[in-house]
Amino acid sequence: MCGIIGIVSGEPVADRLVDGLRRLEYRGYDSAGIATIHNGVMDRRRAPGKLANLARELVLDPLPGSIGIAHTRWATHGAPTRDNAHPHATENVCLVHNGIIENFKALRAEVLAAGRTLSSDTDTEVVAHLLELALAGGATPDAAVAATLKRLHGAFSFAILFRNHPGVIYGARRGSPLVVGRGDGEMFLGSDALGLAPFTNRIAYLEEGDWVRLTTDSVAMFDANDLPVQRAFITSSASAAVIEKGNHRHYMEKEIHEQPIVVAQTLGAYLDPLAETVALPGLPFDLANVKRVQIVACGTALLAGHVASYWLEQLARVPVSIENASEYRYRDPVYEDGGLCLFISQSGETADTLAALRHALAGGQMVAAVVNVATSTMARETQLLLPTHAGPEVGVASTKAFTCQLAVLAAFAIALAKAKGRVDAAEEARLVHLLTEVPAAMNNALKCEDAIAALAPTLAKARDIL
Ligand code: GLU
Repeated sequence: MCGIIGIVSGEPVADRLVDGLRRLEYRGYDSAGIATIHNGVMDRRRAPGKLANLARELVLDPLPGSIGIAHTRWATHGAPTRDNAHPHATENVCLVHNGIIENFKALRAEVLAAGRTLSSDTDTEVVAHLLELALAGGATPDAAVAATLKRLHGAFSFAILFRNHPGVIYGARRGSPLVVGRGDGEMFLGSDALGLAPFTNRIAYLEEGDWVRLTTDSVAMFDANDLPVQRAFITSSASAAVIEKGNHRHYMEKEIHEQPIVVAQTLGAYLDPLAETVALPGLPFDLANVKRVQIVACGTALLAGHVASYWLEQLARVPVSIENASEYRYRDPVYEDGGLCLFISQSGETADTLAALRHALAGGQMVAAVVNVATSTMARETQLLLPTHAGPEVGVASTKAFTCQLAVLAAFAIALAKAKGRVDAAEEARLVHLLTEVPAAMNNALKCEDAIAALAPTLAKARDIL
């Protein structure tokens, strides 16, 4: 999941675009690029590897302009080279894309047949050519965007510039997140509110199928049927401070040390420590009807699912299978009455997990989701939302989000066992009591680790002397 930033302003944007990309670095990437329009010239700089490479290019060959788009790429189609890096451009269109265009092969054949020449191996570039062809056919940018989006299958978010409309940025989202930020006399697009945190905290979350047209002082939003819509601007809590490292050497260290607090916050949402009971948020279905559980996730969240499978089977005596989300929809899983599908995703946007969730909903299963971002697509689409309260996780290797997932899953296992009549009040109280002791135990473990770290230089010196 890579990053998008767009800025339309009265001031030069290149430095801020790169700064925004730095804020999105935590999502991982293999190359980066930016494009601006200035005095009728639409130009771009792209570089494989770290953002420092792009920043160096910009020092040697700066990009003026008060409107621009930027991207960190995590290659899915084509190697991480300069030619494949975004933005992708034609004569009059330039765009960046997160996600995958599933039908790009057919679309490539179509634009090649229309006489266009492609200069990358990506699934993305074809979209720029479709827009260019629509413009050549007389479409306005609005009409070109609306028509082109309807041609695309897959998951995407886009930021798009049109050379002859140097005061307008378009954005679109389906399956990949995109937010709009409102500044003073300027507007922003971003993959998430964290990327925009230094610029503005007034954020609107686009919904599935939405597209937007931004100028310095206007926001026009449209839904998947091209009807005007309003998505509310809220004040985001993703302040720049939340994602500063403080005194820690790196984000992962900071997030490791946040665990006692965020696990306590998370458990606090599911346990009543005085009554020593679990208290799940409003249930849209009866857990007593659950006959089996499929846990569906990717990466670290999948590992949390593996751990939880022990608890669910041991406590609730319900059979559990663990499913890799990237395989799930393709292998046509068997659905039965009494099937509960439990999805786990830190961001709530993991494309494969989201597609699997929709598959399970369509298959008539009970659907629950453990997610860390309450505004995410999975949080909105699931039947039962089981939030973690880990706060933003910037480190690429998951720490606090993983332990918060475990906290929620442990509470859920007790609730399921209780509903299935497998755990009586005394056992529930014992288990809840044990869980309430976890944050303090984590704190002790971290203090030991700090003590060992503090001793490290002395030990190293001792080793040298010996
Ligand atoms: N599928 C596109 C590519 O490979 C975008 C990947 C991304 O989300 O960064 O270029």
